[in-house]
Amino acid sequence: MTANEIIRTKRDAHHLSKSQIEYFIEEYVAGNIPDYQASALLMAIYFNGMDDQETTYLTNAMANSGNTISLKKFRYDTVDKHSTGGVGDKTTLIVSPIAACLGCKVAKMSGRGLGFTGGTVDKLMSIPNYKISPPIDEFFKIVEKTGVSVIRQSDFVAPADKKLYALRDVTGSVESLPLIASSIMSKKIALGSHSIVLDVKVGSGAFMKSYDDALLLANTMVNIGRNCNRNMAAIITNMNTPLGNAIGNNLEVIEAIKLLKGEYISGLYEECVAIAGLMVAVTKSISLDEAEALVKDSISSGAAYNKFIEWISAQGGDISYIENTDKFEKANICCEVISEKSGYIFSMDTEAIGSIAGTLGAGRKTVDDTVDYTAGIILHKKTGDYVSMGEKLCTLFTNNSDAAKEGKTRYLNALKFADDRPKKHPTIYKIIH
Ligand code: URA
Repeated sequence: MTANEIIRTKRDAHHLSKSQIEYFIEEYVAGNIPDYQASALLMAIYFNGMDDQETTYLTNAMANSGNTISLKKFRYDTVDKHSTGGVGDKTTLIVSPIAACLGCKVAKMSGRGLGFTGGTVDKLMSIPNYKISPPIDEFFKIVEKTGVSVIRQSDFVAPADKKLYALRDVTGSVESLPLIASSIMSKKIALGSHSIVLDVKVGSGAFMKSYDDALLLANTMVNIGRNCNRNMAAIITNMNTPLGNAIGNNLEVIEAIKLLKGEYISGLYEECVAIAGLMVAVTKSISLDEAEALVKDSISSGAAYNKFIEWISAQGGDISYIENTDKFEKANICCEVISEKSGYIFSMDTEAIGSIAGTLGAGRKTVDDTVDYTAGIILHKKTGDYVSMGEKLCTLFTNNSDAAKEGKTRYLNALKFADDRPKKHPTIYKIIH
């Protein structure tokens, strides 16, 4: 078998066998296949696709290219969730303690966000003293004791994906459905949870811009997971407006705490109930209706909030910040964006709003950038709301005065107004269960 033969097989739109895919991945990670041959294969896949079987082989080969985590000691109670990424997405902070207080084991490793607004790891690191990289045996002990732990994913998980993703990024082959699906699922499979719930976001602030693409991606990933003997569910959610009202690391932690304390936050509440409901339903083999009722009770009874405290405390986080969120450090500059028009907000360019939050300091462009945990945006008005001229649209938080000035103008440009109330779009488009 040679790399050249494998490339030609896919170039001519034939199926790749398990052994061809395993050979290519092993030899590529070992440095025996050069980037130019891997680029050629990626481009052949981009043009000719792969079926679910080939995609599963690729997923497994990438999952097995580095460290894998065995969660067998937690039997079938382990559940993971993955979001394809969105602006204001703090659901992991909320659904993890909910699922844990309903008997699931959430042993979660999160990748470092390269997005506009930081990833789950950055949000958790904005809680003073939270240990993001404890030794693995401590991670297991916390899961055993509290049912939930979230730590930073090691660089040794799915190194083949890391190497291939970097290549895709510079060779125009990121936007290939089987490559995206296998990339995401390889990390999930390596991390060992028996059940996996996927949140595929669609809209102006998401990786997937069309509903049909999001549905195809969700179904492909669900099929891969099932082929790997995992319990799978997926949800397709709306990312045409930011999720909740807070964007930015410690601002999002504060919003997550509010919801866990029982405050209703439109959109965020429904999405968290559905995701946590799916996590409980697939793990405990109960109906989604039953699971969602348990989820809602866990919020209103305070059980989910107590579990959050237990988790953060077990991981070293300073609980006094959770109990009194006024203690979180604030940005030095806090400026309001005032509407220059009256009317209904017809649409929000969510990608642009995420990018503004990034410029304010909430995200990073390269792995080496530092994140300002205090930076971000609090939205006062969202799509469908009526705004009078002179009313507050949002508040920007930053320590960079140029970014604040630029952010105000960019924010005003990110909104479209209309005289009539726009049609309301759902938060959740579809559940695959
Ligand atoms: N996220 C991933 O992990 N991989 C992709 O290919 C795209 C998004």
